[in-house]
Formats: sequence, C-alpha cells, structure tokens
Amino acid sequence: MQDYSLDAYWMPFTANRQFKSAPRMLVSAQGMYFKDDAGRQILDGSAGLWCVNAGHTRTPIVEAVQRQVAELDYAPPFQMAHPKAFEAAERLAEMAPAGLSKVFFVNSGSEAADTALKMAVAYHRVRGDAARVKLIGRERGYHGVNFGGISVGGIAGNRKHFPVGLPAVDHLRHTHDLARNAFSRGEPEYGAEWADELENRILTLHDPSTIAAVIVEPMAGSTGVLIPPKGYLKRLREICDRHGILLIFDEVITGFGRLGADWAANRFDVLPDILTCAKGLTNGTVPMGAVLVKPDIHDAFMAAAGERAIEFPHGYTYSAHPLACAAAVATLKLYQDEGLFERAARLSPHFEEKAHALRAAPYVKDVRNLGLVAGIELESRPGAPGQRGFDAFLKCWEKGVLLRFTGDILAVSPPLIIDEAQIDTLFGTMAEALREIA
Ligand code: PLP
Repeated sequence: MQDYSLDAYWMPFTANRQFKSAPRMLVSAQGMYFKDDAGRQILDGSAGLWCVNAGHTRTPIVEAVQRQVAELDYAPPFQMAHPKAFEAAERLAEMAPAGLSKVFFVNSGSEAADTALKMAVAYHRVRGDAARVKLIGRERGYHGVNFGGISVGGIAGNRKHFPVGLPAVDHLRHTHDLARNAFSRGEPEYGAEWADELENRILTLHDPSTIAAVIVEPMAGSTGVLIPPKGYLKRLREICDRHGILLIFDEVITGFGRLGADWAANRFDVLPDILTCAKGLTNGTVPMGAVLVKPDIHDAFMAAAGERAIEFPHGYTYSAHPLACAAAVATLKLYQDEGLFERAARLSPHFEEKAHALRAAPYVKDVRNLGLVAGIELESRPGAPGQRGFDAFLKCWEKGVLLRFTGDILAVSPPLIIDEAQIDTLFGTMAEALREIA
C-alpha cells in the first residue's frame, strides 16, 4: 500500500496531472533494468536520462560512494579542498580530449553550460578584450535550464515563460534537414554549409570582435538526436579560429562513449576550447558536471590576478562534492576497466541495423543513428503534434521498455553495457508499440 501522497512533489519537465493520474514509479534498478512498483522489469532504453552509461547500481561506484559518505561527507570547496577533488580532476583530464587539461567542477549540465559561458566572457575580459561579450547558440540546442543556458538554447518552449534572457545573444540555424538527409546512417551527407551562417551573421550583423563564444552540442540530443552533417563542426571550428571566437562543445550527452567514441570531439576530430560534461561523469549516481578548458584559458585568469586574489569568482557550495568526486573516480575507472566506449563502438553496427529496421513500422518518417544513440521521428498526428510520440512512449512503458521522447521523436540511448539480444528487444518492442498506437 502506498504510504505517501502524490500532492506535494511538483515534478520537473513532467505533465504532472497526467503522471499523477497513472504514475510510473521506479523503485530499484540493476544493470540494464529498472523495476517498477508493480515488480515489472523495465528495460532501460534511455540510460535513465542519458546518464547511466555503465548500467545501474554498479558495485564499484556504489561502494565508493558508501565509503566516501562514511569518511568525509562534505568539505567546503572555497579556499579549501579534499584529495578526491584533485584525483577526480586528474582522472577526467587524463581521459579528456588532448589539450583540455583544466577541470572546473559543477553539479549539473545546466551549471556547466552557464559556467562555460561566464568563463568565455570573463576570459576575453581578463585578456583585455572586454568588447567580446556576445554569445551565439543554435536553434534546437539544449544547454540546460538556467538563464545562460536557455538564452543560448534554441527551444521555444523552454524560453517562452522567460522572455528576458541574456541580452547579447544570437542563434545559428539548426542542422536538421529531413528533405536531404532522411534515414541517414551515421553523419548525414548534407549540411556542412549551415556552418557558414556563423560567418555570414557575424560579418553582416555583428562585428566579429564582439563575439565571445559559440556554443553547440556536437550532436543535439534533447531536441531529437540531430547528428551533425559531415564537415559541419570542422567548419564551425575554422570560422571561430579566423575570428578569435571560443568554441564551446556541450558534451553533456555525447561525452563518455555515447557516440561510440570517448567524446564527440574525438569522434569528429574537432577540438573545442571549452567542453562541458555531466550525466555520465558519475554514471548518474551523484549530481556532477564539469567544464574542461585549454590551459591557456585557465592561465589567462591566473596571470590577470594577484597571488591572493580569487581569479574566477564563481562556484557552488557543492562544487567538487566528496560524494560526487568519489562517484566520478569510480565511474571513470569502470568505463576504462570494462572498455565500455569500445564496446559501444563494437555494438553500433548491430544497433544501427535494428534501428533502421523500424523504417518499416507505421508513422516512421526518419531514423538516424550514431554510436549507441538513435532518433526515430514519427509523423505527427494531424492537429496534435507531440501526441503520437507521447503515446509511443506510454505504449513502450506498458510493454516494459523505457525511452525518451521529444515531441514526435523517440530517442534511444541505452547503457553501453547493453547486449545484442537486448538491442533486439528494444527495437522490437518499439515496432510492436508503433503498430498498436493510432
Ligand atoms: N546540456 C545538454 C546537452 C543536455 O542534454 C542537458 C540535459 O539533458 C543539459 C545540458 C542539462 O543538464 P542538467 O539536466 O544536468 O542540468
């Protein structure tokens, strides 16, 4: 019998009234599966929320967090520290794309985005280039929900209640081009030229010397798995370099093996100046994010401030929290010990085959994939955009599979420990679900 009420908890990014009319309650998890309150096993097709890359309740991570909370539950991060913070930063820097060797810890992807934006603007300022204050994001970009993130983000629904964001922001066009790229496998062929819009915009509408940074997700996850067209990110990099603009990659989803490589930066061979990550950093166990930067950026702050000055006046009570650091150290070690990023790469051809078999299912107007992520775009029900996606999500849940949906796009991003039979179940269940909904 349920001994709590559903009233008090105002749920985030949730249709609260729909949920409370038919709750979907997860009570435990292990490996590839959740268990719900009716005792059903639910195959996790979304790695929780794109974060449980090593699978659920993994012993080395659980034990590391248990040991840590018993030993040092908290340590103030301002003017103080604890050893695990340095260990976590060192481990993360070692596995980061070569050249991103300085690590600033935060508690979420949203905080990572806002921290990166502040760092970018402040970096130019400490170098005496204080005119560079403008930030450029992209339509259909998601950088979390804080004011910086929604300002550069490109999701109308997330912005409409908060029309006053950062003042000096512009956006590039998104790269989704179904007319030319539907049913692409891996990087789509067409669209590198969308990157040129950056140069056109800054030359025609802005003075390039006023632009601090461009921020993009290398692959836009939350708005429906939009994989960058071949050559697109390289062109963005070149344009940024020509104009002294910092390039920020938001790798909150793409980091830690999702694309069949450790990072999108390495997958696409494009090095950003600043990279944000979160989610998979602790395998979803304890909230944590990080901003990785090139040493020049870090050093510019050091050079601009006196020995006893705080070089970057920014941080959170829970920055580098001991539990998060313990979880991160154990998680990063587990990824390496089990070769999970390589495993994702190995499984991706099978994953791709099964994903694209959905082309034959009702309503499917696109399938796109890379590594262990796929987006299945459905035709919208006339006059009711998003409802078919919601129905497909609910039907899959009923059948014991958890997915993400964004409007009428279903996103599949399982833990990297998934096996071939589970991949077959995942996509097979989706096909069944699509045949059963209207
Ligand atoms: N950036 C990207 C690319 C994301 O996908 C997300 C979350 O999905 C965020 C930022 C925000 O992360 P958080 O929800 O941890 O604040």
